[in-house]
Amino acid sequence: MKIHHLNCGSVRTIEATYDGPPPAPAVNHCLLLETGADGLILVETGLGLGDVRDPDGTLGADWVEMAGPVLDAEETAVRQVARLGYAPSDVRDIIVTHLDVDHSGGLPDFPHARVHVLAGELAAARAEAPSFRYRPAHWAHGPRWVTYDDEPGEQWFGFTALRAKGLPPQVRLVPLGGHTAGHTGVAVLDGDRWLLHCGDAYYYHREIEDLKEPHPLLDLVQTGSQVHRDLRLGTQARLRELVRDHGDRVEVFSAHDPWEFARHRSG
Ligand SMILES: [Zn+2]
Repeated sequence: MKIHHLNCGSVRTIEATYDGPPPAPAVNHCLLLETGADGLILVETGLGLGDVRDPDGTLGADWVEMAGPVLDAEETAVRQVARLGYAPSDVRDIIVTHLDVDHSGGLPDFPHARVHVLAGELAAARAEAPSFRYRPAHWAHGPRWVTYDDEPGEQWFGFTALRAKGLPPQVRLVPLGGHTAGHTGVAVLDGDRWLLHCGDAYYYHREIEDLKEPHPLLDLVQTGSQVHRDLRLGTQARLRELVRDHGDRVEVFSAHDPWEFARHRSG
């Protein structure tokens, strides 16, 4: 399985908290998995063509003001898929960590895809939209939802992992609670190592190092948008343990940290 790391939507430029990495726009870190027989799997969608055309209408003017999206059509997943030589219909499955505005924007560009999401997240999005975080324009086309409720999970490095329905066993959903009502990580086996896309379970690489150092600006975003503070902080503590105890087997990254993304894009 070939794995591509894609940035599907740059937003406001941020600075690191230490000398070294240059300032960079925050990203929407997505994965495109070339599975062969099972087609393409997109993990996360970032922003889509509809957002580039009408950002205030789809993303909401308040969110645009807060996040400062760059809105470059060439960064959308659908354009990057095309540059790799594929049609949008080759993306048969999409897995989203959650349905926040900046994670669901690409859904309308793949209207035929099955969309895997935790049931609690879909229920919250339907109940609360339209809101700052949930924008119904992103699912007005009626996605083919595949939901996960109380399916039995398997132990996965101290977490519970769910097999992705109809997909190869190298792809798992790893619920990581606290940020939204049904937030999940996505684990992908890459050779003999796992990648764990943590979505918005944390925002800055130094947060899950021993330093436990949040990013001053990104921390405002994550504390302002959490649905359950203790659960979110507990998730981060468990991710810190995962990195400490199994860092040789599992590599974690989050959705928006540009310096984590730079590490993978070149790798
Ligand atoms: Zn986000």
